Amino acid sequence: MSELIIKDLHVSIEGKEILKGLNLAVKTGEVHAIMGPNGTGKSTLAYTLMGHPSYEVTQGEIWFKGENILTKSPDERSRQGLFLAFQYPVSIPGVTVANFLRTALNSRRRALNPADKGISIPEFRKMLLEKMDLLKMDSKVAGRYLNDGFSGGEKKRAEILQMAMLKPEIAVLDETDSGLDIDALRIVSEGVTALTGPDMGVLVITHYQRLLNYIKPQYVHIMYNGIIVESGGPTLAVKLEEQGYDWVREKYQEPIPA
Ligand code: ADP
Ligand code: MG
Repeated sequence: MSELIIKDLHVSIEGKEILKGLNLAVKTGEVHAIMGPNGTGKSTLAYTLMGHPSYEVTQGEIWFKGENILTKSPDERSRQGLFLAFQYPVSIPGVTVANFLRTALNSRRRALNPADKGISIPEFRKMLLEKMDLLKMDSKVAGRYLNDGFSGGEKKRAEILQMAMLKPEIAVLDETDSGLDIDALRIVSEGVTALTGPDMGVLVITHYQRLLNYIKPQYVHIMYNGIIVESGGPTLAVKLEEQGYDWVREKYQEPIPA
C-alpha cells in the first residue's frame, strides 16, 4: 500500500500565504474529492504537490511512499508514481502521443527497476491499444502530436490515457473550472472509475458540485481559505449538491478585522 500524506502544509505565492496548515492522507484504493469555492487554494495545493517552483512551502511536509518529497523535482515525483493530471498541459508538436507515453512509461519503469531495458514496441503497442479501448479512444489519436489541436475533451482523454499507461499509485486531478464541460467531466469520471482499484488512489480537486454526479468518492473534503474545514463521506457531497457553498462561507468566514 502507498500513501500520500500532507501534514500542516503552508504555502505562499509571492509572499502571500495561500495554504494555511492543510492536512490530508490518501491511500491506494481510495477515492477522495476536495471541493471548495474558487480562490480557496485548490490549484495551489495541486501545483505544490507537483513541485511547481513558484509555490513556496513555508511549513509542513508532504510524504509519499514513506519519503518526504518536498525536495524532489516534478519529474522525480512522477517517476515515483505520483501523477498530476495537468503535468503536461502544453502541446508538444513533433512528439506523438505514442512516443510521449512510451518515453514516460520507460522512465517510470526504470525508476521502479534500474535494470529495466524498456518496454518492447509490440508490448507497448498492445498495452496502448488496450488502454485506448478501455477509454473508448480512437486509436488514430496515438499517432497525433500530443495536445496539438486537441479539443478540451481530447486533452482530458489524453491525460486519462497517460494515467492508464503510467499506473501511478496516487493520481491527483485538478479539474480547473475553465473549459470543464459536461463532456470532459464524463470522460474524467469514466476514466477514474475504469482505472481505480486497489493499486491506485485518486484525489480529485474541483469546485464543481456537478462532478459528484459522475464520480462517487468515498471521502469528501471541503476546502476553504487554505485549509480543509470539513471531511466526510458521500453525504457531505449530497449536502454540497443541495446547498452549494454558502453555508461553508457563513460557517468558516474569517472575522472582519476591526
Ligand atoms: P482555487 O483553485 O481554489 O480556485 P487557487 O489556488 O487558484 O484557488 O488560488 C488561491 C489564491 O491564490 C487566490 O487568491 C489567487 O488569486 C492566488 N494565486 C494563485 N496563483 C497565483 C499566482 N501565480 N500568483 C499570485 N497569486 C496567485
Ligand atoms: Mg483552481
